[in-house]
Amino acid sequence: MARTVLAADLGGTHLRAAVVDEGGAIGYRADHPTPAEASPGEMVQLVVDLLAEAVRASGERPAAACIATAGLVNANEGRVIFAPNIAGFRNVVLTTPVAQRLGIPAFIENDASAAALGEHRFGAGRGTRHLLHATLGTGIGGGLVIDGRLYRGAQGLAGEIGHIVIDPGGPRCACGSRGCLEALVSGVAFAARARKLLEQGKSPVLKEVVGYDEPTGAHLFAAAAKGDRASEAEIRNGGHYLGLGLGSLVNVLNPDAVTLSGGLLAMGEMLLGPMREAMRSMAYGAAGSALVRLSELGENTGLLGAAAVAFERLESA
Ligand SMILES: [Zn+2]
Repeated sequence: MARTVLAADLGGTHLRAAVVDEGGAIGYRADHPTPAEASPGEMVQLVVDLLAEAVRASGERPAAACIATAGLVNANEGRVIFAPNIAGFRNVVLTTPVAQRLGIPAFIENDASAAALGEHRFGAGRGTRHLLHATLGTGIGGGLVIDGRLYRGAQGLAGEIGHIVIDPGGPRCACGSRGCLEALVSGVAFAARARKLLEQGKSPVLKEVVGYDEPTGAHLFAAAAKGDRASEAEIRNGGHYLGLGLGSLVNVLNPDAVTLSGGLLAMGEMLLGPMREAMRSMAYGAAGSALVRLSELGENTGLLGAAAVAFERLESA
């Protein structure tokens, strides 16, 4: 029987766990809504129970466990320092209780870093040696695979591509800086762009699409898809900034490929066309030949990323 690992993906809306084999096939899969409010102790218990349930129900004996979560993670200590989208997840050691309950080695990883390794092992980044991965969702995350291994940096914080500054005079970012990539192009940034268009009264189509809801990036795209020029210009401008950010990183890293995942990909060429154009325009020599590839892992990106980290940890043990 193929070797398996236990993977968990802790998101703002769902806690997922699954048993994954070396080929990336997902066996048993558990899914639990993320509690709106829970103490750190309750959250740890919930995660441990979810993983134990996955092991019991699958009948497998996984060789290790890895938990992927958004936010700041100290992978060496197995500690979640801060998870912005999960209430009560602050300064929590996750790996020790999991390892004790299940009797297997346990690891944690930032979800975007895990996604990079997941794409490298199982997805659109297969066959590359050096890979840059960007997650384009509510926020912008990133991960680096260098020489076939996940690059974590000195404190395990590497890959925070959402917080490179693209426009010092740009909008304020949640991190405190101004004009970060994430403040210009992300679900949050597109929602802010939609709000601004509404305030300026520049887009009757968007006004109709939004109705009485809180404006979102999805509204902006829906209005653009209906032919609203102002909304489309905002998305294309976001794509341009994304290209400047990724193009700069390509010039630094010279990766074999750049892989992209996340909800913003639903905006298609309206976002990706200007992105590619900007990347091409600033490419320095052969670095510009880095191919952009779209994720093939879909909603399993988090789980397969966690599984890839677990396999890499086992292999390097
Ligand atoms: Zn920032």
